[in-house]
Amino acid sequence: MKYHIWTEGCQMNVADSQRVGSSLEHLGYSFTDRPEEADVIVLNTCVVRQSAEDKAYGRLSSLKPLKDKNPNLIINLMGCLVGVRGTEKLKQRLPFVDVFSPPSDPGPLISHLTQGEIRSLEDAETTRRFLMMDEELILPAAERGNLVMAHVPVVYGCSHACTFCIIPYKRGVERSRPVGDIVAEVRSLAKQGVKEITLLGQIVDRYGKDVPDGPNLAGLLRLVHEVEGIERIRFLTSHPNYFGDDLIDAIAELPRVMPHIELPIQAGDDEVLSNMKRGYTQQDYRDLVAKIRQRLPDCSIATDIIVGFPGETEEQFMQTYQVLADLKLDVAHLARYSVREGTVATRRMEDDVSDEEKMRRFRMLEQLQEQVVGEINKKYLGQSVDVLFEDKVKNRWRGRTPTNKLVFVESDENLRGKLLPVTVTWTGPWSMQATLTRQSALVTL
Ligand code: SF4
Repeated sequence: MKYHIWTEGCQMNVADSQRVGSSLEHLGYSFTDRPEEADVIVLNTCVVRQSAEDKAYGRLSSLKPLKDKNPNLIINLMGCLVGVRGTEKLKQRLPFVDVFSPPSDPGPLISHLTQGEIRSLEDAETTRRFLMMDEELILPAAERGNLVMAHVPVVYGCSHACTFCIIPYKRGVERSRPVGDIVAEVRSLAKQGVKEITLLGQIVDRYGKDVPDGPNLAGLLRLVHEVEGIERIRFLTSHPNYFGDDLIDAIAELPRVMPHIELPIQAGDDEVLSNMKRGYTQQDYRDLVAKIRQRLPDCSIATDIIVGFPGETEEQFMQTYQVLADLKLDVAHLARYSVREGTVATRRMEDDVSDEEKMRRFRMLEQLQEQVVGEINKKYLGQSVDVLFEDKVKNRWRGRTPTNKLVFVESDENLRGKLLPVTVTWTGPWSMQATLTRQSALVTL
């Protein structure tokens, strides 16, 4: 019996797909990269932008002929397209889909395959006993021993309700995972060869706030830092309102927690931020960045920005431009505002910035950021920096610095999973090239 998984969207979906693969392999299925060979096909979807939703529907229609040919084929639609609410409309539109699963919940698929023994991950104890031996996440066979970096969800859902965002309606309210489960999973991943873990949450720095007496994210980092075999720890995505001093201390004090922070600002104008219901001002954000840099001078900071939010004037956009120009952040994930059915912004605000204007603003920030990052990366030229290598892409090994910069190195040796010093020989805005600093000093992890 074979399964195939197609994943679109964020790291949380990647982690969810890994869990589904793990569960299916526990039931005796093996992975195939050819959907036409599969007995079970899982489509793990994203709807954060219209283009992602369109892609999911496109992929679904390409599966219909397979189902027509093989009526025993089981098609599972999972993720944000399904959401936490009912699936009746989807069932009418997609009658050839057998199972609908909300994000992060392989329960409905496993229930279908095991004739109802498990209904949902709400029934966490049964699921764990049934699917995971010894409370461990057993990676899909293809990844066991090969996967260098893994993502570990620590908080599901989001209760913040930014007005542009569909996530709270799709992934439900915020729920922190029990700390014991997280640490057990990290231990299990380490035993299977994983060297780097990224703790995931829509607002990861809210971890534990819904659990009285449990650790917060800083406490969790300290516990995970004890796990033998894990060389690097990252976490994403943080919200500026919850990024406390104890978290900055944890990054400063724990050598295996990497100095890289994903900290979306979304806009640099206070009125736009208020309309987005983000809960901070641009000055709050500037102050936080200054505080982080003072304590962690080598830390890289990434941000997210949406241009063309309803009502955003040229003057307001230029405030965002100025914040980016002043702060000189390492990464800016840029997006053009798009209408998403069900969000507050869609219900209550007019999408009044034209597509052309959104694109112009997007390009302006893109050009600015290219220049900023090009300058930041030049500082690495000639420097020795530690790189954890992930995989080989067209003859070059690909890895990342502690600050999450992408580095390519030519080498005939197998560098996968190795943490090595390299000397940077070329830098551009999006990547760097390097040579191994001392070939003789290879450290096998
Ligand atoms: S914090 Fe805001 S943008 Fe992030 S997932 Fe929650 S609602 Fe969406």
